[in-house]
Amino acid sequence: MANKSVFTAARVANADVTGWLPDHAVVVDGDRIESVIPAKQLPSDVSDQYEVHNLGDLSLIPGLIDAHAHMHCSATLDAYDLVTTESLETLAVRSAKNIRDALLSGVTTLRDIGSKNEIAFQVRNAVRSGVIPGPRLLLAGTPITTTAGHCWFFGTEADTEAEVVTAVRQQKKLGADVIKMMATGGMFTPSANPRTPQYPASTLRAAVVEAERLEMQIVAHTLAAQGVRNCVEAGIHHLIHARWYHPDVTQPLDFDTETVKKMAANGQWVDPTFGHHLIGIERKEAGEAVLPPHTAVAASPVTDADNIETAVKMHEMGVRFTTGLDMGMATAPFARSGSNARAFVIELGYTEWEAIAASTKETAGAIRVGDVVGTLEPGKIADMVSLEGDPSQDIANMERSVDVIQSGTPVKLAGAALV
Ligand SMILES: [Zn+2]
Repeated sequence: MANKSVFTAARVANADVTGWLPDHAVVVDGDRIESVIPAKQLPSDVSDQYEVHNLGDLSLIPGLIDAHAHMHCSATLDAYDLVTTESLETLAVRSAKNIRDALLSGVTTLRDIGSKNEIAFQVRNAVRSGVIPGPRLLLAGTPITTTAGHCWFFGTEADTEAEVVTAVRQQKKLGADVIKMMATGGMFTPSANPRTPQYPASTLRAAVVEAERLEMQIVAHTLAAQGVRNCVEAGIHHLIHARWYHPDVTQPLDFDTETVKKMAANGQWVDPTFGHHLIGIERKEAGEAVLPPHTAVAASPVTDADNIETAVKMHEMGVRFTTGLDMGMATAPFARSGSNARAFVIELGYTEWEAIAASTKETAGAIRVGDVVGTLEPGKIADMVSLEGDPSQDIANMERSVDVIQSGTPVKLAGAALV
């Protein structure tokens, strides 16, 4: 049903996501933005043709893009126990709740990079057919991992180069937009050592070649320094976490600037998962429980300061960062994607506008949806979120959504959910 609407706000993000257009109106025709004009230029009889929403003294920005979710995980300390024991039916119901939480917080595009195939593709079918509300979903389905490797229980174990290539093809057949590889072990999986690679660079490269042939991006989880090197050598498009754990359990990090130079020169993006990181720090400061590190890391823990220092160095050397919260992990609730921007300002030294652009325009471009979403410009899909106050003055406002508009249709108005 084609509807025509106007949304006015005291502050509307400009087309570059670098500043405000004061007292502007976003004019929407169907699911697309028709124009962005000063509110005073609206005709006096605008309400005859358009449904007019005067949002008031708020900040209207493009809908948030979050490039890292696990839709069926619970975002609680027992996330591992739940996802390894719950039925598929329970996980599907949990997913429906989680993606709605994300949407109502202002996330209008969500990339899931690791959930069981039976859940992720079915949940997206339900969203597309209007059975449940949810953001635009880009999906990897199950991550590709080694036998007993990181997140093996999601369902796709592939060890040899040939098995990995077949797994890439299988995910394409199921409907994947993107391939997720587990280049190293991870904190979430007791049997997978985060300090060591799971695949040689040659196997990752075979997966990259196959993903590119099938017109998909390929991203890889990596916590170990050697995993980062393997991903850079293989041409992985996005590195997830990109931590630098030393293979020796008595050492914390093994950072190397030569690899970072190559990463920057290749244009390989990093999702530093720093929103998740920041929430964890804040919970510790508040005396709340967080998960202990993996046993392979516990002997010589990597500190928060270590991780911040290496991420700042990568950024200073020209590596670009996407916003991905790792939604579903223990301290990454689905409604808190705005923490990504907070972390980029607080921990990485971004300006507020750089962090707002990272959460919208930049990450939209990185995950190849920048031609349809990520900015408020004529012709783009009308995905928008209004925020309390002014996030360019206080970035914490990124977590204070008031209205959410998806494809031109409000799904939350004045703080009240409509879906
Ligand atoms: Zn993750």
